[in-house]
Amino acid sequence: MPTVAPEVMARYEAVIGLEVHAQLDTVTKAFCGCSTKFGAAPNSSTCPVCLGLPGALPVLNKRALELALRASLAINCTIQPRSRFARKNYFYPDLPKGYQISMYELPLALAGGIEIEVEGEKKRIGITRLHMEDDAGKSLHEGFPESDRWSYIDFNRCGVPLIEIVSEPDLRTPAEAYAYLNTLKQILEYTEVSDCNMEEGSLRCDANVSVRLRGAPKFGTKAEVKNLNSFRYLAHALEYEIERQIGAIEAGGTISQETRLWNVAAGRTEPMRSKEFAHDYRYFPDPDLLPVMVSAATIDGVRQAMPELPDAKVARFLRDYGITPYDAGALTSTRAVADYFDAVVKEGAPPKAAANLLLVKLFSLLKDAGKSVSESPLSPRNFAKTVIAAESQQITASQAKTILGIGFESGKDFDVILKEGNFSQISDASAIEKIAREIVAKNADNVAKYRAGNEGVFKFFVGQVMRETRGQANPQLVNEIVKRVLSE
Ligand SMILES: [Zn+2]
Repeated sequence: MPTVAPEVMARYEAVIGLEVHAQLDTVTKAFCGCSTKFGAAPNSSTCPVCLGLPGALPVLNKRALELALRASLAINCTIQPRSRFARKNYFYPDLPKGYQISMYELPLALAGGIEIEVEGEKKRIGITRLHMEDDAGKSLHEGFPESDRWSYIDFNRCGVPLIEIVSEPDLRTPAEAYAYLNTLKQILEYTEVSDCNMEEGSLRCDANVSVRLRGAPKFGTKAEVKNLNSFRYLAHALEYEIERQIGAIEAGGTISQETRLWNVAAGRTEPMRSKEFAHDYRYFPDPDLLPVMVSAATIDGVRQAMPELPDAKVARFLRDYGITPYDAGALTSTRAVADYFDAVVKEGAPPKAAANLLLVKLFSLLKDAGKSVSESPLSPRNFAKTVIAAESQQITASQAKTILGIGFESGKDFDVILKEGNFSQISDASAIEKIAREIVAKNADNVAKYRAGNEGVFKFFVGQVMRETRGQANPQLVNEIVKRVLSE
């Protein structure tokens, strides 16, 4: 693909809509009692219903409906009093029923929207609809003894409950699409609708992309790009596809309405073979399933049970904890981090100091260990004790970081680490003064510089005292004493 000059790119704008599939976090499948557990032995979680055997009758999983309703409210959609499952007919080896069960002409919820933020700019992205459907199985093309000759099939995923969330074509840049998917993921995780594990396929994304000259009233012809199953792929594929379309139009060509696949290895979108997208699904209402009737009382119940959403949590952290907006954003990035922080504050740690140590020290420990906050060996209780000790100047800030490091490595209690490590802050003014005087006596040239007005040398003396005390001296006291000794 020839690259398009930036000034040409700038004359166009992209129009992007996303279709996001999320697996509902249920124990059993959408219409049968089979387990949804990921990684079970192939074909071990199947039954006549999810295999579509003749005579088997599906029954809607109540929990799946509750989670779909919760998701609908969390993204501000209007729940329809009556929705209905249809059969979406097509043939594929991983679809033993010969059809997917999906809400079609009567979806569960309509007309919602969420707010995204890109580089400080807030924007509302409309959501067209949310509907429920079931998943297909998986064809496995590698990793088996005869993979060179056969494809293998695993029906465990057949009938796993999904929601599909379709956005309005309100997104204009890959960065906005990225922010939208991220915000949506955060909401679905917070509300425990889905674990949104992208590696396990719990969150999947397709994009509809078109381009038009800036200011043009009509949308251009769109292409659907499939297989955008990581944030990185989404951004790369959109960047590629936008430039491809602009390049084609600039070269005098047209865009054909087609389904394209993001080829990860090649780093480009490619048209899928035509027979694979020329579908006529022959939708019709599923005769085995009753329409879904949702009463106002049910919706009220779902609303009552709604966990705190990310935006509400940010507002509470700002209001109750007095931390900065930046810290509040970082501490609510996932529900697990927010819960951890809440627990630390509940243990009595001052919020500002706790936020600081958490974002700086705990995050770096977790990153180095490749762990998530829910796997942290440091309990909120021990974390809080360390923060409290540092705030009351029982230990220094650098000791606090050391103690957190030891606790993270060993899983030991704060009190044990404190005792074993002989951590305490030197707040004995006479001891510090003695060290300060020795250092001043040894560094006559720097003393002269300081007295000649070179303020920068002051830090040198403080640093020397801290080094002599192995970081255990009370920094405030060191500052005062060094200043006094130097000015004598
Ligand atoms: Zn089953």
